Amino acid sequence: MCTGRVDLKHIFYAFYKGIDGVLIVGCRLNECKFATEGNYHALNVVLLAKRIMEHMGMDPRRLRVEFMSSADGPLFARTVKEMVETIRQIGLLEDGNLKGKIEEVLKLIPYIKIAMRGKLTVKLKDPSLWEAHFTREEISELFNNVPSYWIDPDECRACMACLRRCPVNAIDGGKKLVHIIDQEKCIKCGTCMEACRFGAVKKLVGQPVPPPLPEEKRAVKKEAA
Ligand code: SF4
Ligand code: SF4
Repeated sequence: MCTGRVDLKHIFYAFYKGIDGVLIVGCRLNECKFATEGNYHALNVVLLAKRIMEHMGMDPRRLRVEFMSSADGPLFARTVKEMVETIRQIGLLEDGNLKGKIEEVLKLIPYIKIAMRGKLTVKLKDPSLWEAHFTREEISELFNNVPSYWIDPDECRACMACLRRCPVNAIDGGKKLVHIIDQEKCIKCGTCMEACRFGAVKKLVGQPVPPPLPEEKRAVKKEAA
């Protein structure tokens, strides 16, 4: 698979399944024949994933990216050997709490990708910029400010625009019924807030989400214009 398709979910799913180390090998930087240069995308994804791993208490050396050509057999063999040695040094992934933490990260990947989309598209031609591209501080802030989306029952007009655009069917609707977001299914993409022209969808940070209305109290108070 082209490294242009490498996604955070591939990396964290591998760890979730108990893989002890992930090595991504892509074509040499600046030699991609496509304008998109997907190997730079893979580099950004790995740099971001490493910071997330640090935040979770995982050793970031469990993840490595290298760039080489198909003629670089000895380099490939050396890289694999080094990776195996590194994992032997670190040890197996045995933290009992880790699976739950990785599961949380997997759920937040759409939110992380939206929040970091600017930096994920940069082509980091200068290796001296790699280390500081994603900082520990911004990753802490990212995880400390995870939003929840909630529909204000006083403002919802039951127009269904949010429900139609939610990519994971997390919104429960109905004719003239206040719409409700299923917080378990929601991937925090923010699409519903953009879709709602009545300002009924609120982004909540650092506060609990009010409980959903019972069915008998869901009649809308305002009609859509
Ligand atoms: S788009 Fe806004 S008004 Fe329409 S159903 Fe969704 S929350 Fe309610
Ligand atoms: S933020 Fe809104 S559109 Fe996105 S998944 Fe959650 S409910 Fe659906």
